[in-house]
Amino acid sequence: MRTVYLKFTEGCCNRRILDLKALEVFFAKNGWQSVGEAKDAGLICLHTCAFVKRTEDIAMAEIARMQREFPRAELLVTGCLPGINLPRLREIFPGTAINTVDLTDINAALADAGYALDTLERDENLLFEQADHTKKLPSLVSIGYFLKDNFSLRPVFWRNLLRNVGNIVGAGMGLSRKHWYLRIGWGCEQPHCTFCVECRAIGYRVVSKPIEQCLREVRAGVAAGYHELFVTADSPGAWGVDRGRRLPELLRAILDAEPSVVISNIDGIHPYFLYRYLDEFCAVLRSGRIKSFMIPLQSGSDRILELMGRRYTREQFLEIVAACKRSYPRLVIVSQAIVGFPTETFEDFQDSVDVFVRAGVTNVTFFPFYPHPETVAGRMEGQIDDEEKSRRVLYGLKKTGEVGILSLHRTHEVNPKYQKVKARYDQ
Ligand code: SF4
Ligand code: SF4
Repeated sequence: MRTVYLKFTEGCCNRRILDLKALEVFFAKNGWQSVGEAKDAGLICLHTCAFVKRTEDIAMAEIARMQREFPRAELLVTGCLPGINLPRLREIFPGTAINTVDLTDINAALADAGYALDTLERDENLLFEQADHTKKLPSLVSIGYFLKDNFSLRPVFWRNLLRNVGNIVGAGMGLSRKHWYLRIGWGCEQPHCTFCVECRAIGYRVVSKPIEQCLREVRAGVAAGYHELFVTADSPGAWGVDRGRRLPELLRAILDAEPSVVISNIDGIHPYFLYRYLDEFCAVLRSGRIKSFMIPLQSGSDRILELMGRRYTREQFLEIVAACKRSYPRLVIVSQAIVGFPTETFEDFQDSVDVFVRAGVTNVTFFPFYPHPETVAGRMEGQIDDEEKSRRVLYGLKKTGEVGILSLHRTHEVNPKYQKVKARYDQ
């Protein structure tokens, strides 16, 4: 029997893990046996992330190691590295490489595949156990780290901290709950950000999963005992643009179809889209059955937002968050900012921190800007020194932490200290 070993490299997000789950099923249905160790495999399928240089380096090192240690096995490289940096991949690997957006090419690559991977109907709705971050957020350990770094006797600190932790736990994002992953689409539509390399991997247009298919998957989850959904896509806010529909319509349909389900989280909704259907979105929020969503700020400076190509303003971001919180006061709002975008001044960065504090978001992450050479932003004048980016990340964590805004993250990043380390090395 043909044997395959499937592995994802560090950094892979839940969408790519869902892709690898789909590949696992693809191989099984085509008669392959999945093995737990690379040494037992005739084929090694390495699923890669190349979001920043660090994860790209890790993927490259893993490809080199697999070739060195298992020369008799065939290697197949899938995921984002083939799309984001094919020339670098080709320096060490001449074999089959399939980019994220082209994943169904696997049907042709394995010519005898009787079962074909489908673009729209391929999701398994569950992640590999070790990749399911949701149940680790927030752990007592991570809150302990947060308290150790930010402890204060100020009433505002405790008021916000207790509210934020309570809301996260209430949203089902902590403890050991299991989530049913509902992927609603692929790819990213305009506006394309000047700092983004991901589109090279995920594709420059949105493919939305039809409502009927989404509902089928939700019903399957309920039948299997899952009532908490994690809604994800490469750009969830853009769902429906290829079908003349909008995200709130889908969310309403899901909640109406299955009264027992709640949506524990929706991955990053681009403010550009959310602002356009804010009233409809808030109407769904008022049901109290959307517990949490991620909305990336990226910058609180309108000048920097324009350079990033984001097409919204800081005031629009504030308006969105205020309206959402009014609609459902226990809502968990997770956000993030890029630190040290080209020409960003310290005052620009203070604007980002100021927006988080004024908006009263629940949880923030600060990402040091990575000047990827293949991006517009990576080639801009006015790049910021790495040390200065680290200094700003620490400043941002301090200023948000002292008013009880959490900075918890997933798995190894759950420790706020990791964010500080990342600030130095993730560039
Ligand atoms: S979509 Fe981005 S985060 Fe996800 S695996 Fe690809 S490069 Fe990494
Ligand atoms: S919204 Fe921006 S960062 Fe996100 S995938 Fe699209 S272009 Fe990339």
